[in-house]
Amino acid sequence: MLKLNYVRRELDEPIEVFREGENGVVVRAVCEGVATELRADLVVLATAVIPRGDAARLARMLKLGRKSSGFFLEAHPKLRPVETLTEGIFIAGCCQSPKDIQDTVAQASAAASAALKLLFAGKCGIEATTAVLDERKCISCGLCVASCPFGAISLADKRIEEVLCKGCGSCAATCPTGAIEALHFKNEQIAVQIKNLI
Ligand code: SF4
Ligand code: SF4
Repeated sequence: MLKLNYVRRELDEPIEVFREGENGVVVRAVCEGVATELRADLVVLATAVIPRGDAARLARMLKLGRKSSGFFLEAHPKLRPVETLTEGIFIAGCCQSPKDIQDTVAQASAAASAALKLLFAGKCGIEATTAVLDERKCISCGLCVASCPFGAISLADKRIEEVLCKGCGSCAATCPTGAIEALHFKNEQIAVQIKNLI
C-alpha cells in the first residue's frame, strides 16, 4: 500500500539526508520549527519548477493572463484547458504549470487540434458583450486603458476595438465619468434587474 506523508517546511529550515546501514536513508529536517526524522528506502530530490524569466514579457506581448505563481493562465481549467483568453493563442506544457511529459504531449495535441479547428473554420466569432466608449463624456484620464487586460482601448481615437474586447467590464467599472458602458449591462439595465430582484 502506498503511504503519502506531506510535510510542510520553510525554505530556510535545515534539512539533512544521510545513509543509515546498507539500504536505509534518513531525512532529518526542521519542519515549521519541529525537528522531524523520516526513514525511507529511496529519496528523490527535486528542485522547484518556476516560470521562465521572460514569461512576463511574452504575456505582455500576447496579452495573456498569468497566475499568482507566474505561469500562464488558461481560459478555464476544466472546460478550456489549452485556450487562453486571447483568441488564437493556445498553451501547452510547463508554461501553464509544472507537468510531466505525458500530460504535456496530450495537451500539445489538444492545442494543435484547437488551432487547426480555427484555421479550417476560416472565420471566428467575437464577444457579443463588448464595451462602447462615448467620446463626449471622456476626459482622457487613461484609467480605462490601464484597466483593460486586452489592450482593446485606444485613447488616440477614443474607441474600443470590438475584436479585441472580451467584455470583462473592467473599463466600465473604472471610468469616473461613465463614458464607457458594457453592451447588455448598461447602468439602466442593471438597475432594472436589481429593482426586480428586491
Ligand atoms: S470590457 Fe474589458 S476587454 Fe473590453 S475594453 Fe473594457 S476592459 Fe477591455
Ligand atoms: S476612464 Fe473614462 S474618462 Fe478616462 S479615458 Fe477612459 S473613457 Fe475616458
